[in-house]
Amino acid sequence: MIIFGTRGVNSTMDEGHFFCPQCEREEPYRHRKVTRFFTLYFIPIIPLGRIGEFVECRTCQGTYVPNVLEYRPEGGGSEDQFLAEYEKAMKHTMVLMMLADGEIDEQEMIAVRDIVNKFGHHDITLAELEVYTNAVRNSPDDISTYLKNIAPSLNEHGKETIIKCALSVAAADGHIDDREIDLVYQMGEVMGMSSAHMKGILGEMEMPGAAGNEGGFV
Ligand SMILES: [Zn+2]
Repeated sequence: MIIFGTRGVNSTMDEGHFFCPQCEREEPYRHRKVTRFFTLYFIPIIPLGRIGEFVECRTCQGTYVPNVLEYRPEGGGSEDQFLAEYEKAMKHTMVLMMLADGEIDEQEMIAVRDIVNKFGHHDITLAELEVYTNAVRNSPDDISTYLKNIAPSLNEHGKETIIKCALSVAAADGHIDDREIDLVYQMGEVMGMSSAHMKGILGEMEMPGAAGNEGGFV
């Protein structure tokens, strides 16, 4: 049997120092590009074209749109524009998960806000989350489409953070059921993560439900 497929391969275009919005100081970076390769037996053989690029801080592992290299802290500018890509993506993904069952309750909103503020570097209020949720509600993309588009802007750290946040949302009601596990595995697959990698993330997180555990992984 011949096993073939495609996958994204990261390579470094350039490196240097930049002002990292997350570290809030000068740090070394790598400018990475992601190329889709035709693979044979999981080995990349033929490049099929560039699918994305990002700038990665080598200290905090945050990834950013390339024009973060122009970012100067004293220059003002929209903070949101230079939010690490995984921070934008984790917020968006959690809101999509929250919207998946068609209804949103206050408890869910509080859980999502707490997770955003725990994993992210820019705290949001419930009112801000509500405005954001209404905007997402009007966007046409489902979770798979969204993650497929954002994956080339994320490094492994970013993808792992998305998966951990998704698991935390799933655990917010005190337990994780099989459907939620399936959904999280699907999310990993869309982002090109191996099932061994996914198992590793699940294994390293404390499962809720044990005595004295409030649920959630954060
Ligand atoms: Zn950094």
